[in-house]
Amino acid sequence: MKIRLASQSVARQHLLKMSRVLFTAHPARIDETSILDALLSEGASATDISATLAEYKARKISVKFPEDLVIGGDQIAFFNRKIIGKPENKQQLTEQLTEMSGEKHSLYTANILYKDGKPLWRYVAKTDLVLRDLSSEEIAEYVNEHWDVVQHCAGGYAFENTPHIFSSVKGTWFDILGLSLPNLLDALKNQGGISDASVPKLAAVLGHPIAQSRSPILHSHWLDKEGIRGNYTSIDIPPAYFDETVKTLISVGFSGFNVTIPHKIAALNLSTDQTQAAKRIGAANTLVAKDGQIHADSTDGYGFWHNILQFEPDWDVGQSASLILGAGGAARAIIDVLLSNGAPKIYLTNRTRATAQELADLFGDKVHVVEWDDRTAPIAHCSTIINTTSLGMVGKPPLELDLSTAQPNTLVTDLVYNPVETDLLKNAKTLGLKTVDGVGMLLHQAKPGFEAWFNHSPVVDDDLRKAVLG
Ligand code: NAP
Repeated sequence: MKIRLASQSVARQHLLKMSRVLFTAHPARIDETSILDALLSEGASATDISATLAEYKARKISVKFPEDLVIGGDQIAFFNRKIIGKPENKQQLTEQLTEMSGEKHSLYTANILYKDGKPLWRYVAKTDLVLRDLSSEEIAEYVNEHWDVVQHCAGGYAFENTPHIFSSVKGTWFDILGLSLPNLLDALKNQGGISDASVPKLAAVLGHPIAQSRSPILHSHWLDKEGIRGNYTSIDIPPAYFDETVKTLISVGFSGFNVTIPHKIAALNLSTDQTQAAKRIGAANTLVAKDGQIHADSTDGYGFWHNILQFEPDWDVGQSASLILGAGGAARAIIDVLLSNGAPKIYLTNRTRATAQELADLFGDKVHVVEWDDRTAPIAHCSTIINTTSLGMVGKPPLELDLSTAQPNTLVTDLVYNPVETDLLKNAKTLGLKTVDGVGMLLHQAKPGFEAWFNHSPVVDDDLRKAVLG
């Protein structure tokens, strides 16, 4: 018995895929307008309307494939006793959002299972959402920025892309996106279509902007490789809405998040408890939601450490001093992990001396600030040299650093991973020094979050590296 989805909806297909359910999708072309008109003239309720439309679609496909289980789905947005359809143009969307702004509306998500032309199971979920009180400028900006996507969406919004525009949501991520997965998976199991009904876990990377993040590729690779039921996405949240949106996402079913610029400090402040590393660093890049609590971690140091040990297992940070170039957020995490693992002395140099001094004051007397112009001076005394500046990255100036005085066994590593082999690493290799590139840090720092959200320990290997580097 096969499973067939009577829907063209990309969102519904995506939800079923993350459940690891094997299915084929079939567009069920029905005359929605006539059916809707007839239902409205009968005074049908929103529940009946969404269920009937889902049923029409499922029946149509079920008649073609009577042996198989057919899933039908429909969703309508209801506001002020009216159905809010897909917007016809930008002007209409602007008016619609203006009317809905600050008000509650509801989404009715109907799912149905058919076999042999007959219904086996039905479910309609109602989600209440309140759109924030949006100013006309915010609405104009929203319409212009999101029109390409939201013109295809009932209600004129895509919740998954902009959850921050809602001030209150009572429902689940699955209901909002169009398939009530926990109930549907149970029903599929009860009808013998699948053997396991466990519900996909949800996680995301949050930032502003976020389109550049490689994290969705990384986590999706692990999910697909291990066949784990789950999804990892990216969500852009403007700083003013960070706290509320994180709480909303947790309430609709998220297990946790990676957090990137500019939210790392806000993430720490929002958390209910923190790892020692996050506390010492004063920022978090990983949040885990569990039992009503939000746990914060900072995993950059962990990622840095495990990357080096993967390629240079004999590396000993305690052997002698380290030189760190740069004093930004990443340097903070690296100083912390080096000191926690026995580094005897760290030379810290930064273009802006005051920032380096701040870190030296924070981490204590093992950290010595060196003037940026004198940055080559400590090299002869260091067994580890780490670039944490953005110099050497594509589009940035090169890092000028003469390594000729380095001891033969010195390890040179660069956090910049675009390009993978920076000029710093090339020069170090030419001099016969050990080198480790920055890609692995990005991969390893993702592990603790993945383990916590998806309950599975992933492997950092060459396949992952290739996937992330594209
Ligand atoms: P950040 O907080 O913005 O710090 C940037 C650092 O680069 C500061 O020390 C800054 O010095 C220095 N810098 C920038 N432009 C410079 C210039 N023209 N000359 C000299 N120094 C300059 O950024 P971050 O989060 O620490 O990240 C730093 C780098 O590490 C970025 O390239 C980032 O992509 C990379 N990174 C990689 C990983 C990984 O997984 N491989 C993880 C985290 C970060 P000032 O204080 O003088 O501005």
